[in-house]
Amino acid sequence: MANMRAVQVSKRGGPLEVVERPIPEPAAGEVRVKVEACGVCHSDVLAKDGTLPGTSFPRIPGHEVIGVVDAVAPGVTGFRKGERVGIGWNGGFCGACDPCRRGLFFGCANTKRITGINRDGGYAEYVCALSSALARVPAELTSLDAAPLMCAGLTTYNALRNSGARPGDLVAILGLGGLGHLGVQFAARMGFRTVGIARGEDKAPLAKKLGAQVYLDSEKSDVSAELQKLGGARVIVATVTNGDAMSAALGGLGPAGTFMILGAPEALTIHPGMLIGGRQTIVAWYSGTSIDSQDTLAFGALSGVRSMNEVFPLARAGEAYERMMSGKARFRVVITPR
Ligand SMILES: [Zn+2]
Ligand SMILES: [Zn+2]
Repeated sequence: MANMRAVQVSKRGGPLEVVERPIPEPAAGEVRVKVEACGVCHSDVLAKDGTLPGTSFPRIPGHEVIGVVDAVAPGVTGFRKGERVGIGWNGGFCGACDPCRRGLFFGCANTKRITGINRDGGYAEYVCALSSALARVPAELTSLDAAPLMCAGLTTYNALRNSGARPGDLVAILGLGGLGHLGVQFAARMGFRTVGIARGEDKAPLAKKLGAQVYLDSEKSDVSAELQKLGGARVIVATVTNGDAMSAALGGLGPAGTFMILGAPEALTIHPGMLIGGRQTIVAWYSGTSIDSQDTLAFGALSGVRSMNEVFPLARAGEAYERMMSGKARFRVVITPR
């Protein structure tokens, strides 16, 4: 059997190691994908540390995968050899359990389907995936462009389009990192009055370049007060994981406003009285399933939303991961097998 190069975590908390593994064979209902690019996401830390229940080792991380279908097993309909596809965090759903039958595919009761967590992901030359996990990739996007849209892009795009905000509404994106730099682009192109919020005056030109009408430096200004001066936000999308930064922005919601949590802070301080008075909502948002990824890619192609990437070869995946973890990457890190 032919081998492939892959990067795996051999034991809980262990390093990322370059290894030779047999090229996997797709099981019934799966395709095999020849990987062209795979984004490095902060959630890959969950694969490395084995934090989520059901994680086993060795494990190949990576859930922002773009590649070409190179083998199709029986039981797959709708996808053919040679098609370019994406695979995200949601590694597919059964279609038969109660949540699936209610259309809540993200909540499929068959939970052992997270790409790069309880099945192997895209830090490799090949990966197998259930056909229910596949998104179609538009020709306008290169694989390097498309990869970060499979998680960072999906998470922000899908949150925004389900936020209840309408064109012209004031929408604030808290954080201008891997998720935030995409969130500002999506919000602006969806027709929202877009506010970018980050630390430091030096980020102002970037926020404006990405499409924000207003930039707020959270070090210099009272974010909540500034948002209220603008009329109060219909939606605030928090892409940071800092609970204090989130709490400081909550007061910027307008009447019936919605605060969306995309990253998990340790804890969050809220004043329920304020929420009651403003009839406001705090909601957490799950990234999405394969059709949501496909819609994200299509909207990215249509609107010109692009991730800014730092690219590393597969052999330097460890370095790529450290770069992502340092928080210094501008803005997304992507691995390419060649
Ligand atoms: Zn992710
Ligand atoms: Zn299901």
